[in-house]
Amino acid sequence: MKNITYPYKRKPKNNTFKEIAPRVYWLRLGMPFSLDHINLWLIEEDNYWTLVDTGPNTSTSKTAWQEIFSTQLQNKPIKQIICTHSHPDHVGLAGWICENQSAKLLISKGEFEFYHQIFANNKPTSIAQAQTFYQQAGASDDQIKSYFKHIKIFSNLISLMPSSYQQLQHNDGITLGKYQWQVHIGRGHSPEHICLFCEELNLFISGDQLLPTISSNISVWPTQPNANPMADFFLSCQDISKVINNQTLVLPSHGLPFYGGENRLNTLSEDAKQDMACLYDFCLQPRTVSETFPILFKANIDENNLMLAFGEALASLNYLCAQGRIIATPDENGIKYYQQTGA
Ligand SMILES: [Zn+2]
Repeated sequence: MKNITYPYKRKPKNNTFKEIAPRVYWLRLGMPFSLDHINLWLIEEDNYWTLVDTGPNTSTSKTAWQEIFSTQLQNKPIKQIICTHSHPDHVGLAGWICENQSAKLLISKGEFEFYHQIFANNKPTSIAQAQTFYQQAGASDDQIKSYFKHIKIFSNLISLMPSSYQQLQHNDGITLGKYQWQVHIGRGHSPEHICLFCEELNLFISGDQLLPTISSNISVWPTQPNANPMADFFLSCQDISKVINNQTLVLPSHGLPFYGGENRLNTLSEDAKQDMACLYDFCLQPRTVSETFPILFKANIDENNLMLAFGEALASLNYLCAQGRIIATPDENGIKYYQQTGA
């Protein structure tokens, strides 16, 4: 089997539960972005629900949730929310639903901290740090302004997070819906992304770590300018391949549930390696980060995707730097130029 297959040809109606395995329900929530939906998962207990991810903090999501509260929960509260990672579409309404349902939040320490470092941090030091980070990447003043504008938009898509949480760690076992699930931490797309595997049902809730049709953004952030998330991503692909097989039903945050997870992991790794081979060739001459955009991205880079483009290009460049194949040299203004070392 080379590819992936979809057992559900059609998406379910928004805001209604669809049972896809014993006690496991699929909830598709619409989003007002170019990525127009997120899949959330609910696991039914005798007296309550466990919810995986929440949707973003928008008025339409809140309205949808009000409808879900009154029509889908069968008078059972949501008692716990597991957030796969701290991006706004996954964690956005965690605080709001926790308060509404008296639920507790379960998340990894890395994701809880990432939220506080990136989305809930307006300290002058972190603003200066981000400014230097993008200046070194060759961003213009307008582009840097756009970064701050977008971080603010992102931050507003997350309702105030609960101040306490229950930490989930790699290999933790958790009973959900009478079945045993195992926490599997993925890396690259976010620092400590929670995936959940149920061996008995052969189900894998993959979040954004493994998606059927799009590759998730792998970015370097101003808080850790020399990070190498691409290496983390490759390692995670190998690790997940040891957990799931092509017969595992993968439940992704975007797109349709699918079989062929191992094949998809291989494709994602191979595609990323291919992109980096092209990037390496392109760095025969010294290049700034933004000069690499046409090599790495098919989409036009505008204000809306600029921040992710800088982050993702840097992730590829940092990977090649860590391998000693390219080197970054700053010019007199501090702008970094990346070039092959010949190694
Ligand atoms: Zn994400």
